[in-house]
Amino acid sequence: MEEPFLRTIKTHFNIVPFSSGYSESSIIAGISTRYGGVSLDPYDTLNLGLHVNDDSECVVENRHRLATDVGIPLERWVFAEQVHSSSIQKVTTDDCAKGSESYETGIMGVDGLYTNESNVVLSAAFADCVPLFFSSKQHSIVGIAHAGWKGSVLQIAEKMVNLWVQNECIRVEDIEVVIGPSIQSCCYEVDDRVINEVNKVVNKGEPTPYTFNHDGSYQLNLQQLNKQILIRNGISPENIRQSSHCTSCQVDDYFSHRKENGKTGRMLGFIVNCEQEGESAS
Ligand SMILES: [Zn+2]
Repeated sequence: MEEPFLRTIKTHFNIVPFSSGYSESSIIAGISTRYGGVSLDPYDTLNLGLHVNDDSECVVENRHRLATDVGIPLERWVFAEQVHSSSIQKVTTDDCAKGSESYETGIMGVDGLYTNESNVVLSAAFADCVPLFFSSKQHSIVGIAHAGWKGSVLQIAEKMVNLWVQNECIRVEDIEVVIGPSIQSCCYEVDDRVINEVNKVVNKGEPTPYTFNHDGSYQLNLQQLNKQILIRNGISPENIRQSSHCTSCQVDDYFSHRKENGKTGRMLGFIVNCEQEGESAS
């Protein structure tokens, strides 16, 4: 499968267009790297997380730098608290800038955001957890979710799909998902505690999203688990794309919580439906 994340500028990878069917609007989405910021070791340099004991002035400067490179000012970005839940909130223009300069003003208690308004940048912080980017070419709707192992087994992916289908009248066949760079099975060793929870959400007949190690531990593939959950909920496999990037293997490009023993920064995943010039707000 072709890698959906391409880098043309040092601060971030962009998702190559979700599809060619987006005519009325264009989606800008991607994930930041650790380059181009002002934070010092171990947050060097483009740490975008305000909750990791980095100097908050550096983080806000870094966020402005990313926003500038993405082309949409930080005042249009929305941040979530992220508590390893499966809670998702629909946001609007009124939520713009929440959490942008202080963690406490973000959208509390949620790990997923979606909007059907243009020029509202949805963002979420990552350092190994799986970023899920949602979109529909027939509708001006975008979403982002933070799926670590907890969010994955709580099936935040399913919840986003259900919200769109039930509350937004989106047909499931119109939903596209991109699974972003995360820690991959090569580097993600877990124990029984995690696998017991994973087993509860793997249906009969589905592939096992982990392998066994000789010492009784496991190598977990969180991307595969999320993909299975999406397919089970009606998302067409052709509408799911997946990054091959491993945040732990590629620690020069990305922050990795596991690889760096918990002392590191955060990337930001982001997605926005940009209204093109000349179009009226609808
Ligand atoms: Zn790896």
